[in-house]
Amino acid sequence: MNTYPLVVSQDLVFRSKATSLQSSVSVMVYSLSGLDRLNAENVSAAMAVVEETGMSRILVTDNAGKIVYDTRETGSAVGEYAVYTEVVQALLGYDVFTCNYQGGAFRSRASSPVLFRNQVIGAVYAYEYDTEQAALLAGLQNNLLRMSAIIGVVALVLTQVLSRALTRNISQLLTAIRQVREGAYSHRAEISGKDEIAQIGHEFNSLTDRLQKTENSRRRFVSDASHELKTPLAGIRLLSDSILQTENIDLETTREFVADIGSEAERLSRITEDLLRLTRLDSGILEPPTRVDVLPVLEQVMRMMTLVAQEKQVDLTYDASGECTVMATRDEIHQVIYNLTDNAVKYSGKVGAVQVSLHRRENWVELTVADNGPGIPEADIPRIFERFYRVDKARSRAAGGTGLGLSIVSDTVCKRGGTVEAANRPEGGAVFTARWPWKGGEAQ
Ligand code: ADP
Repeated sequence: MNTYPLVVSQDLVFRSKATSLQSSVSVMVYSLSGLDRLNAENVSAAMAVVEETGMSRILVTDNAGKIVYDTRETGSAVGEYAVYTEVVQALLGYDVFTCNYQGGAFRSRASSPVLFRNQVIGAVYAYEYDTEQAALLAGLQNNLLRMSAIIGVVALVLTQVLSRALTRNISQLLTAIRQVREGAYSHRAEISGKDEIAQIGHEFNSLTDRLQKTENSRRRFVSDASHELKTPLAGIRLLSDSILQTENIDLETTREFVADIGSEAERLSRITEDLLRLTRLDSGILEPPTRVDVLPVLEQVMRMMTLVAQEKQVDLTYDASGECTVMATRDEIHQVIYNLTDNAVKYSGKVGAVQVSLHRRENWVELTVADNGPGIPEADIPRIFERFYRVDKARSRAAGGTGLGLSIVSDTVCKRGGTVEAANRPEGGAVFTARWPWKGGEAQ
């Protein structure tokens, strides 16, 4: 940027100087052209009519190079020999022009031979010393330099600012990745801006969010599961120790204790079964769904539950309407209806009444299980489908609950694109509603 305009303008000045100086010299040569020989008198007379504009010095020599005319007033070299290369070249018959730019001035020299009948009888030499155009050029050079300096500084500052902003986000991201890799799941990358790196940072943060949530629920699940397994195991140990340590224990008490051990073992196997079912659901590997008619499954569960309900003096009734076919497996539907009805019978009122309904509502198949029990405290409703969550721990355990039934229901239904919700009935009691997307056609 700095050099190119300067070189071009210098070249332009050189060219214009060459034209003007050479044409001035030609004029002088022309005015001397009638002379057969050059001497101080006839040259001065001929040169008197020539206008020497802007020239610093003009020399005219004879054919031996002796100066016969010099425009310089102080230190005139008339009578001396001109020792300039340009003069020598001109005496050899050549037109010569040289120009250079040095020390803030253009120095231009031009010389041409003077001919008489094709013989060189002398030479004209003109010299011009120009500071005006040189000053213009120097001004241009200064301006260019100043502009370059400003552009340079701006570019430097911009580079610094941009690279710092870029590397700041990258280093933040790297630190965060290392921290999270070491297990600090609560650490987040402090990212600012909207560029691609910032977007990667935000994606990383939301990934870490999920990782933290998964890790927390995994920890909670493991601790809850161990706690659940610990209780019946402790019971079994206590009972077996009592049998072993009591001397002369009678048969009746032994039977009682062994029966208790049996029911604790049963509880253990219920919990492990539920845990296995949940692990299978978590693994994401689902059995391929078929078109299932829900009504026959409902009738089967009702037949089974009626016996349990009668034992607890609960009045269990059901009604159904519409074509209720869904894409799932028979076992899944069985599990959902069983768990919800089992809960309703377990938690229904003293004179218990449980009503199960199955209907098709537009593109959904809806199953509702309502009871007349105490219902669920409003604050607990959002958490009721969490694993091991129980409203009344003592009552749930006493009723043989594992705290996993509803989360199995929720996971099973949601995996097939359905929903489950819990609510309290205005007349008292709880109502659970499970919905599956309806799939018309022949059940398989
Ligand atoms: P549990 O094995 O303890 O029954 P669930 O996951 O099936 O575990 O249910 C979780 C909790 O929800 C129960 O402990 C109970 O407090 C509450 N619950 C479930 N069904 C009902 C219901 N029909 N009426 C009142 N509370 C219920």
